[in-house]
Amino acid sequence: MTQSSPHAHRAGVSFEDRMATVDFRVAERAHIVVDTSVCLSCELRSCVHACPAALFVPTDDGGILFNYEQCFECGTCYQVCDAPGALSWTYPEGGHGVAFRQG
Ligand code: SF4
Ligand code: SF4
Repeated sequence: MTQSSPHAHRAGVSFEDRMATVDFRVAERAHIVVDTSVCLSCELRSCVHACPAALFVPTDDGGILFNYEQCFECGTCYQVCDAPGALSWTYPEGGHGVAFRQG
């Protein structure tokens, strides 16, 4: 995987190594939906810096791109986003979502 982000080497663990410790069974329905019209007026963009999977990507036009498919389901984006209505969460369908490997 090639992905450049401010999270590339957090706490001495590369982004690639962190992502290699998890499996994702991707559901067709997004369990997190971002209302990007709300994001347009957000200055802090806390989600961009806080998401451990770097799934929030700012665009040149002031928008946000979001990809739910490799979400850790950690809830951090909900903790840091203080814009009402920006994020909507439903749990992934049964059998879908993230699985953490041991060892
Ligand atoms: S999801 Fe929340 S924190 Fe992230 S850009 Fe949108 S409004 Fe801002
Ligand atoms: S739940 Fe966690 S991994 Fe998923 S988008 Fe939010 S911050 Fe990123």
